[in-house]
Amino acid sequence: LVPRLQPFSSTIFAEMTALAVRHEAVNLGQGFPDTDGPEKMLKAAQKALFGGANQYPPGPGRQELREAIAKHRAERYGIEYDPNGEILVTAGATEAIAATLIALTETGDEVIVIEPYYDSYTAAVAMAGATRRVVSLAEGADGRFALDLETVRAAITPATRAILVNSPHNPTGTVFTRAELEGLAKLCVEHDLIAITDEVYEHLTFDEAEHFPLAGFPGMRDRTVSISSAGKSFNCTGWKIGWVCSSPELVAAVKAAKQFITFVSGGPLQPAVAYALDEELDWVEILRGSLMAKRDRLSAGLAEAGFAVRKTEGTYFVCADVRPLGFTDAAELAYQLPERVGVAAVPVKVFTDHPDEWKHLLRFAFCKEDSVLDEAIERLHKLG
Ligand code: PMP
Ligand code: GLN
Repeated sequence: LVPRLQPFSSTIFAEMTALAVRHEAVNLGQGFPDTDGPEKMLKAAQKALFGGANQYPPGPGRQELREAIAKHRAERYGIEYDPNGEILVTAGATEAIAATLIALTETGDEVIVIEPYYDSYTAAVAMAGATRRVVSLAEGADGRFALDLETVRAAITPATRAILVNSPHNPTGTVFTRAELEGLAKLCVEHDLIAITDEVYEHLTFDEAEHFPLAGFPGMRDRTVSISSAGKSFNCTGWKIGWVCSSPELVAAVKAAKQFITFVSGGPLQPAVAYALDEELDWVEILRGSLMAKRDRLSAGLAEAGFAVRKTEGTYFVCADVRPLGFTDAAELAYQLPERVGVAAVPVKVFTDHPDEWKHLLRFAFCKEDSVLDEAIERLHKLG
């Protein structure tokens, strides 16, 4: 493995899932749902699979999917994209992020990454040959992890080319407010930065939190590469159907990289995702309500088991402080937890460049059946 990729030889999700399997632990580590998406979406995939959609789809993605993505962005957020030239279907958000960084950044460029970060960001910046500049979210007394715009401003240099923005945010569950996004947008315009937004949890926001795409702020549409995917909205994380929306120039650039990574993918799944975006947003609304109840269920259970639980405004995840239980390093605990009590979780510090500042937190996924959450909670009580 080349030196610049050596820090990325394994992922925490693979490690924790392997430990969970070995010890028959309840796996609240890797974030994936344990129920299927809308039945008619599965039927649409089956129909496409038996209906001859099994060869390469068009390079930018199937027309009906690009049209469904455009309609969704326009109706939900009021942002218009031309399905012919401003939308690209990718192999999940992961490929979209990597192809965007490879297409738009190179050696000598700096990319601002907000920590804790989704693990693929730093690997993708490294694959592009660029350098990351890491900015930390601020852990507030109210349990919310906030974006401090002054720390973002301080990280901008003449070499800064892009900023990666994930909201709703994995792992903290923060949903950036309109004010936080407005401030970010102003910084991007002022310093002529490209924004790469990871919006895979766009539908999964709770209580009063609302998702606003950064591309919708003044001056942002054509400098933002907006990325999302079907996995989290429709409980199909294994399908890996994602997409990019941006200006024709930026989409063409991302496509240039993407065409030599996978070229295309997911032929028979693309019409099913088009169907889901067109027809199943009510299903997603029900999913959102159910996830909100699961957030409450797991948060309350973790608090009863002795953790100090942080606030979660969206996503699949809740972060919990292990110090009230007498532990100082959540990573040490995470590696023991499957064997010791039969539960797997992920330490937040592995998603950061400042492990000491983040070592008190564990991330738990609540996108699981209630009985699974209850079993995990019961087992975690043995820790106290
Ligand atoms: N970004 C974030 C923040 C995620 O949590 C995930 C997956 N859990 C992804 C990207 C990857 O999305 P996909 O499966 O569509 O590649
Ligand atoms: N996105 C999922 C998570 O954060 C895991 C995806 C993966 O295993 N790479 O848990």
